[in-house]
Amino acid sequence: MQEFSSLGLSQPTLDAIEELGFETPTSIQAGAIPKLLNSESDFIGLAQTGTGKTAAFGLPLMELVDPELPFAQGLVLAPTRELCLQISNQLESFAKYRKKTSILAVYGGTDIGRQIRQLRKGVHILVATPGRLRDLLERKAADISRIRYLVLDEADEMLNMGFRAEIDEILENAPSERTTWLFSATMSRDVRRISKNYMYKPEELVIGTVNASNKDIEHQYTVVRATEKYDILKNFIDAEEEIYGIIFCRTRRDTEKLAKMLEKDGYPADAIHGDLNQSQRDRVMDLFRRKRVTLLVATDVAARGIDVNDITHVYHFNIPEDLNFYTHRSGRTGRAGKRGVSLILAHHREKGMIPQLERRLDIRFKHQAPPSAEVLLQRKLVTHIQGILDAPEFDILDKVLPPIQEALKEMSKEDLIYQIAASFAEKNPRYTVEHKSQPIEAGNYQRRRDGRDRDRGGRDRRRGNADFTRLFINLGTMDLPQKGDFLGYICRSCNISGDFVGRIDMSEKYSFFDIHKSRADQVIDALDGGDYKGRDLRVNQDRPSNDRRNHRRGQRGGARRR
Ligand code: AMP
Repeated sequence: MQEFSSLGLSQPTLDAIEELGFETPTSIQAGAIPKLLNSESDFIGLAQTGTGKTAAFGLPLMELVDPELPFAQGLVLAPTRELCLQISNQLESFAKYRKKTSILAVYGGTDIGRQIRQLRKGVHILVATPGRLRDLLERKAADISRIRYLVLDEADEMLNMGFRAEIDEILENAPSERTTWLFSATMSRDVRRISKNYMYKPEELVIGTVNASNKDIEHQYTVVRATEKYDILKNFIDAEEEIYGIIFCRTRRDTEKLAKMLEKDGYPADAIHGDLNQSQRDRVMDLFRRKRVTLLVATDVAARGIDVNDITHVYHFNIPEDLNFYTHRSGRTGRAGKRGVSLILAHHREKGMIPQLERRLDIRFKHQAPPSAEVLLQRKLVTHIQGILDAPEFDILDKVLPPIQEALKEMSKEDLIYQIAASFAEKNPRYTVEHKSQPIEAGNYQRRRDGRDRDRGGRDRRRGNADFTRLFINLGTMDLPQKGDFLGYICRSCNISGDFVGRIDMSEKYSFFDIHKSRADQVIDALDGGDYKGRDLRVNQDRPSNDRRNHRRGQRGGARRR
């Protein structure tokens, strides 16, 4: 494993890193730092958020900027105020043992006059959102004419947020002899355009798979009715030992409404969305960072740049409007090597979007059934009964209880416990309701090797698939000459889609075919004992041990009725 000391960093920087508790460089750091330190080439780093990108460009930037020169040499563009602040804070801590390097973050939504005054004092590294920097340039308050290093952090996010014109303008106005470093989680068309137009022969470093999500995230989905969605969300939350999560909604109104409902039901939730002013946002984020609020209900835009490392769960109360947002939402968890869960609560109508997301982002979703009522009720009862056992003593009860005790004298301890539990269940009916979610049918997941949707064919690849079972049928090519005829006959007679049928092997008088396990009984029920042009049909499961017997029977054409 590589050490920070082997990357070419100076001793004061190594001391600062040690103090931050960074022991070994992350992959993007090990790959990028030596390149950025030793080469003047442009550079593209493709890596997910939370992989240590800030230090990957921040450490070399600190080394390369000369604090003796009295002008801005480094410019970092980032999509949000939060990210600008995080970057400048990290840069400050990297610079702790270096000669005074002045770092300033400038972003929108706050007093521009103050930022202008700070800029006048002089900076070495400017960290800015594109919109605010453009304003400052127009007012001639910021000077980027002698920038040597220009960093585009989370370039895809900046473009998603509509900063295209601002970025173009800034890049056009930056000195042409600068070095540009671009970091992005995804290589979108827009990012590619920026690299083509404004970068010269960039070296590219890809960490993980391009456009793929972080492997530390488990992607899950559950299929819910709209009326059950809220209860199912709460059940998922209740089933976890510990939760520190973000719940995404599409609109500001939904965000506000959901946070209020959760709060009313006793969950430590709050909302963050675009209608909040900066001080309201700061208050919510502060509560969230201090874990006073452990469920943050957010819109896509408001959640950008939220950099909290130990998010355990991301819930998608609604599937994002733009499927590309899914990466940004789920990327809030599974950071800095920690595992996280990203769970979509999909409505039946939205089911088709899960395979679409899988294809587009090259990730796999696991079906997650809602927690069972039994598990939830038991967990809640244990807590409830422990609360009863922990209740303090009250002198007054010595006077009040005797007649009650007398009246309950005949009642057994088991019955009393039962009644306590029943009373709890009565007051909390939510924990007695069983919710179901049907996994998305296998057919939706079949893909061609070229990544396009498969309509037919490709059956052979389902061979040996544990989800399929093999059936025997005494129909062969003498009855249905082509496999297509056979497939059509099975699908029509059993009312199933061809996606549930796998490999077909036909002989003259009999055939073997694979069928998705979820449909095997349906097929046997529909065909076995039935009739094909006056002949008795026989269908049964083909077990390896009786393969031969079936074969021989088939050859004899024995249509024995069961
Ligand atoms: P970033 O992707 O730059 O936002 O970093 C994600 C988090 O990982 C930040 O909180 C960093 O402080 C932390 N981090 C970055 N590099 C390292 C490292 N080499 N060792 C431990 N933590 C790190």
